[in-house]
Amino acid sequence: MSVTLSPSASPLTAAPTTAANWSPDSWRSFPIKQVPTYPDEAALKAVEGRMKSYPPLVFAGEARRLREHLADAAAGRAFVLQGGNCAESFSEFSADFIRDTFRVLLQMAVVLTFGAKVPVVKIGRMAGQYAKPRSSDTETVGDVSLPSYRGDIINGPAFTSEDRIPDPKRMETAYFQSASVLNLLRAFSRGGYANLHRVNRWNLGFVERSPLAERYRALAERIDETLEFMAACGINSASAPQIDETEFYTSHEALLLQYEQAFTRVDSTSGEWYDCSAHFLWIGDRTRQPEGAHVEFLRGVRNPIGIKVGPTTQIEALEQLLDILNPADEAGRITLISRMGATKIQDHLPGLVQAVKGTGRTVTWMSDPMHGNTISTASNVKTRSFESILTEVQGFFDILTAEGVVPGGVHMEMTGQDVTECVGGAHQLTEHDLGARYETFCDPRLNAEQSLELAFLIAEELNS
Ligand code: PEP
Ligand code: MN
Repeated sequence: MSVTLSPSASPLTAAPTTAANWSPDSWRSFPIKQVPTYPDEAALKAVEGRMKSYPPLVFAGEARRLREHLADAAAGRAFVLQGGNCAESFSEFSADFIRDTFRVLLQMAVVLTFGAKVPVVKIGRMAGQYAKPRSSDTETVGDVSLPSYRGDIINGPAFTSEDRIPDPKRMETAYFQSASVLNLLRAFSRGGYANLHRVNRWNLGFVERSPLAERYRALAERIDETLEFMAACGINSASAPQIDETEFYTSHEALLLQYEQAFTRVDSTSGEWYDCSAHFLWIGDRTRQPEGAHVEFLRGVRNPIGIKVGPTTQIEALEQLLDILNPADEAGRITLISRMGATKIQDHLPGLVQAVKGTGRTVTWMSDPMHGNTISTASNVKTRSFESILTEVQGFFDILTAEGVVPGGVHMEMTGQDVTECVGGAHQLTEHDLGARYETFCDPRLNAEQSLELAFLIAEELNS
């Protein structure tokens, strides 16, 4: 495995391989959105200085391997499942939270593997997903207006002027918490928790009241039978380590560039720059301007990169982004994450898919059916309906298939907890139920049952 060192400690004698006119801090002279101004410049500099000396969270070699898996997904040889919280938080930090999200992701992955008939690449929105872009700079309650909450890595969620002040020390807390989350994820992935025979102890409570109960049960039984058959054939963890172990990757939105820069290091094997805060980093819908700071930063790191593609994405801008971020057209480097909304996908996605296809470039297409489907109830609670989420995923599959392009994966906001944040699903959660366990710090997430149910429906779609 390659070891990634801090730039100052790099054993390389030759200069690192660096994109033209790029350096880890070149983003600082570009226009930037969504990043706060820290009131205490000296405190910020001190934190940045310390973070630069902290060990990386991931190795460059792992990010390279993920890039290869994503290239496989672009070619239909793998399918990607990316999921987790909208925002991780400092208060929801316990082994149970991590285990429950990990378990549901693994269960979804087993179901999707069965549907897609190819390996499922698992990427968590975990161990670093703390910074949130906001539609508005301020939040108003009654006649009080305060700066918006931007995620625990930046400021606090309480509606007080003190909590909303950006505090650079939060970046260090986020780093240490990410290290701890990642440590547990690595242990779960390699230490037997991911054993296929355990994972399929389904939490199929959602089946009971579902009109689709028979279909779910039939699929679950087929998966169980397959696993039993494999065991009977002697395919066990001794002969096939993948029964017991899994590869699990981390990702987050590369939003807070001071943090990302601090973990950007030269890989001692390849001499290339990697952002070692996570394996996969994406650019959000609000910060994907070709001439902006976020694009400038990401063009110089060699991790696989996601770009959110929304209803306002223009064909020209998208082509420009592909030129800037992937000039050598390397497969696996770019994942386009479509987040249109169920009612807009038919109008916006086909043109973009055709245009990218027309450039002859290789990208991995993925569906985020969450962010275009957020609505507010009459009492101003943010929710998403299971039905719109499903409609968008189905639209995504139909559009790509019609264009002869591979649908490479799905991106979900979900949790392993039994929350009530999205309406619909087999339990027919209604707006009225949302008050029961509405716990998100940001966007509404699918609960454990809704996530698994969606995986079953997507597996059917993939199988059809
Ligand atoms: C997100 O993924 O949490 C997010 C904010 O998405 P988008 O940039 O697509 O709105
Ligand atoms: Mn979100």
